[in-house]
Amino acid sequence: MIDAAALRARLDGVRERIARAAHRARRDPASIRLVAVSKTFSAEYVRAAADIGQVHFGENRVQEALEKMSATSDLPLTWHLIGHLQSNKARKAAERFDTIHSVDDSDLLRTLDAAAQAIGRRLELLVQVDLAGEPTKFGVTPDDLGAVLTAARANRFARVTGLMLMPPAVADPQAARPYFAALRRLRDDLAAHGDTPALPELSMGMSHDFEVAIEEGATLVRVGTAIFGRRAPVQA
Ligand SMILES: *Cc1c(COP(=O)(O)O)cnc(C)c1O
Repeated sequence: MIDAAALRARLDGVRERIARAAHRARRDPASIRLVAVSKTFSAEYVRAAADIGQVHFGENRVQEALEKMSATSDLPLTWHLIGHLQSNKARKAAERFDTIHSVDDSDLLRTLDAAAQAIGRRLELLVQVDLAGEPTKFGVTPDDLGAVLTAARANRFARVTGLMLMPPAVADPQAARPYFAALRRLRDDLAAHGDTPALPELSMGMSHDFEVAIEEGATLVRVGTAIFGRRAPVQA
C-alpha cells in the first residue's frame, strides 16, 4: 500500500523548497519544471503522485518506462528519459517520451529526428554534458559540444532546447555548485556564439542538490528520492 499522505507531504515539501530557492535567486518558480524520477517505483506510485498534481515523470530505462506509460495511459502525463539511450532503442523512445535529457551524439540526434518525423510528433531534446571527464559518465565533452549542437540545427521534429548535467557525486550540495555554474556559463557562451540552437533549458539538480541547481539557473530538476523515498538497491 502506498502511503498517499506521506507522498503528498514529501511532494509538497519539494515544491516548497523549489519556490524558496527560486525566490532566493529572484526567479519565477513557474520557470522551473519538477521532474519526479519514478525509476524502480511501480506505476501505482506514478498514479498516486499524479493524483496530487504531479505531471512530469522521469525514468532512466526505456523498457521500464514503457510499462509504466501503458499502465497510466489514461492520465495526461509528460515523460522524460533521463538515462543513457542506446541507439537501438531510439525509435521506441522517440515514440513515447516527450523529452529526452540524455542525447550524447550526433547520430542519436539524427535517429531521433527521423523517428519523430516518421510519426509526426514533436520531441524535446537536451544534450548531456560531461564536465568532469569521469570515465563512467555519459555525455558530450565541452570540446565536442559545439559540433553536436551544430548538427542539431538540422533537426526539425526533435529539437534541442537545452543542456543536461550529472555532476560528480559529492556529499555536500555546495560542492556541486561550480559544476552547475559551469554548465550555465557554457550555455551562455554558446548563446553568444550564435550558430547553435537557443538553449533555454538547463536540466540539473537531484534530491540532494536541486536548490543549489535552481540558484544557478536550473529549469528542470530531476528529483526521485525526496519524493518517492529511498530506492531498493537494484538487483544485479
Ligand atoms: C536517479 C536519477 C535522478 C534522481 O536521483 P535522486 O537522488 O533520487 O533524486 C536524477 N537524474 C538522473 C539522471 C538519475 O538517474
